[in-house]
Amino acid sequence: MELIRIPRIMQDTCRKHLQKGRTIGLVPTMGALHEGHLSLIRRSRSENDVTAVSIFVNPAQFGPSEDLSRYPRDIEGDTKKIGELEADVLFLPDDRAMYPAGFCTFLDVEKISEKLCGAFRPGHFRGVATVVSKLFNITLPTRAYFGQKDFQQTVVIRRLAKDLNFGTEVVVCPTIREHDGLAMSSRNAYLTAEQRKAATALFRCLTAASQEMLSGTRTAETVREMMQDILAAEPLIAPVEYAGVYDPQTLDPAAEIKGEVLLAVAVRLGNARLIDNMLVNT
Ligand code: AMP
Repeated sequence: MELIRIPRIMQDTCRKHLQKGRTIGLVPTMGALHEGHLSLIRRSRSENDVTAVSIFVNPAQFGPSEDLSRYPRDIEGDTKKIGELEADVLFLPDDRAMYPAGFCTFLDVEKISEKLCGAFRPGHFRGVATVVSKLFNITLPTRAYFGQKDFQQTVVIRRLAKDLNFGTEVVVCPTIREHDGLAMSSRNAYLTAEQRKAATALFRCLTAASQEMLSGTRTAETVREMMQDILAAEPLIAPVEYAGVYDPQTLDPAAEIKGEVLLAVAVRLGNARLIDNMLVNT
């Protein structure tokens, strides 16, 4: 596996692969890799000639009071995992390589960036859209792989890729979960044993809401209340930022439950902010 730290070298390398007629799959990550990330790498390996994994803890997507400085980092462990999966290139730029002095171009995917997580993390999706655009320009991917776990991120990136004619296919992969349903996340490392137990309420609330809808409930407010009640029963979860039924395209709250709907939840639990979601065909 090739390790590249310089954007220009990464771009030259990827261009050469494309010139040889190879397809490139990109898996953008912030590292501290777990099975969720690894599932994206495996998928890319199965669908492309070349798989590039990027690890970059993007400062532009963290708010001033967020966890940038304590975000888990494990470059050694990550490199080993990526090597074992036989990815071809690891792109590991530092902050200065991605945001050199004088950097002042940012991308704003309007409307959808302000909903759900965007309302609680101002500027987050601006940072995501900017870094993903840079990574697309640097690695020129045929396909790029993202997890459904960050559902809003996939909506923002799909929009971005379309609006800016990137020509990259955005592939969304299923959420990988722990044995008790908790969605894998690098941020789960922040949880104490007690908080880790309470965290199962997210999956429980999504499952109960999904079952409720599949057994015929058509009023979004009833389902939303049920989700809120399940989360409220865990005193360690506070506050619930949002929990409810949404339109998977616009991310607006759904009034009526019809066709495919998104169940989504974001909570604070100790030092962690946890999110999860489920798409349900009603
Ligand atoms: P992150 O390192 O948290 O920025 O995540 C990098 C990519 O991995 C994103 O596309 C995430 O949506 C995806 N991802 C994170 N957790 C999971 C998971 N549990 N299952 C599937 N994909 C995930």
